[in-house]
Amino acid sequence: MLFTDLGLNENILRAVNDVGYTTPTPIQAQAIPIILMGRDLVGLAQTGTGKTAGFTLPMIEILSGGRAKARMPRSLILSPTRELAAQIAENFDLYGKYHKLSKALLVGGSSMEQQITALERGVDVLIATPGRLIDLFERGKILMSDIKILVIDEGDRMLDMGFIPDIEKICSKLPMMRQTLLFSATMPPEIKRLTQKFLSNPKEVEVARQSSTADNVEQFVIHVNPRDKEKTIDKLIQQENVQNAFIFCNRKRDVDVLAKWLERSCGYSAKPMHGDMEQKFRTQVLNDFKEGRVTLLVCSDVAARGIDIDDVSHVFNYDVPFNAEDYVHRIGRTGRAGKTGHAWMLATRSEEKQIDAIEKLIGKKIPEGKVSGAKPQSSEPREEQKQDRPREEKRDHKPRNDKPRNDRPRDDKPCESKPHNKHGERRPGDSNPRDIKRDNRPLEDDDQNQNTRGFGDAMPGFFGKTDKS
Ligand code: AMP
Repeated sequence: MLFTDLGLNENILRAVNDVGYTTPTPIQAQAIPIILMGRDLVGLAQTGTGKTAGFTLPMIEILSGGRAKARMPRSLILSPTRELAAQIAENFDLYGKYHKLSKALLVGGSSMEQQITALERGVDVLIATPGRLIDLFERGKILMSDIKILVIDEGDRMLDMGFIPDIEKICSKLPMMRQTLLFSATMPPEIKRLTQKFLSNPKEVEVARQSSTADNVEQFVIHVNPRDKEKTIDKLIQQENVQNAFIFCNRKRDVDVLAKWLERSCGYSAKPMHGDMEQKFRTQVLNDFKEGRVTLLVCSDVAARGIDIDDVSHVFNYDVPFNAEDYVHRIGRTGRAGKTGHAWMLATRSEEKQIDAIEKLIGKKIPEGKVSGAKPQSSEPREEQKQDRPREEKRDHKPRNDKPRNDRPRDDKPCESKPHNKHGERRPGDSNPRDIKRDNRPLEDDDQNQNTRGFGDAMPGFFGKTDKS
């Protein structure tokens, strides 16, 4: 199947060609003709399958005839997170570059004034997170009576983040005569109920659940004692030929603490990214990482889904994810575009069950890796540990902070394995990863309330650009 077989107009095909896509992905091949027919659609597909183009391309086709009126958007895309909303907006820019469609992004955390101004100009495509949309609707700044196409993206994520009541509320304000597209990686009962209530005789398309990990990603697990985690991650970063890496933590506070420690005490170029950070900082950090100014992005699962950065050499799971599917998403950040990727995971004894769930999901055992000089936590090696040898150690590259050493703050406990880092003194009250762990419940006892799904309310820096190209 070719893009030319899908019924898209010349200008869309030209834009797709400019991006360099040759063939539609399975979700695109299945969904685009159905959407162009005007049918409602349930797409069982997740990020990474090309689903965004799967709905943006036919939307551009459908919306290309017609004009938006002030405060009356013609289509609405609901996204669970601001980053995903921003990425959808980028997709519209990319594929809609030969069309004169206007768009607006309504996400929390930034000036409502700009958003209201954008709405008043009239938008063809409104991309929104549910909370901000409801807020503006309740202030009378937006009329939803002209919305002809509704897309609910990442339905299961919406559910995890508690957005289902908001979505129901939004759906009840929309005209009955509309086309609704819902995408979700899984179909839990609440999402099924949503489709029954708000979609009309939808066609279902499904692409394989992302339960397998790419063969070109080497995976290892290292069993560690909780108190050795920082030391181990530092050694691993040194041991591996890290060009750049995502380091995932399960808890926001650990993201901050670890990033600070890696940067200040170990001298790496490391920055945190999680949902409690102001949006302008999140956008800045992500851009710095994309453009190579930051080498280690210490993050929560917010970064695991949807963020599309090629050329990431490593993913480190500082914690075993609570949810097995998050493991697949996390390590899917490396080994993109056919390159070899490397994924390492630190695991404490209490996380054994989570590892079992991951191995069950991906259908294979994750071999025990080795980090130079680290003692494994368990005296009983896992079965595969006896058979699998870790990959060869490489030491030729270290992603260092460019700051001269004597400029670096000295307030964290030093990185023990760094001979250069002699300044271990801390001032009273300064935080330290180990102190924080001692002051709180042990890591493995931590509850899921600290789980980092969700974002809070913030907003990409480029909001307000209502594109009238
Ligand atoms: P998505 O699932 O929408 O987040 O897309 C995942 C990645 O696939 C993005 O990097 C897209 O740019 C890319 N992509 C989307 N459609 C195609 C295609 N037909 N061929 C190659 N790459 C694609």
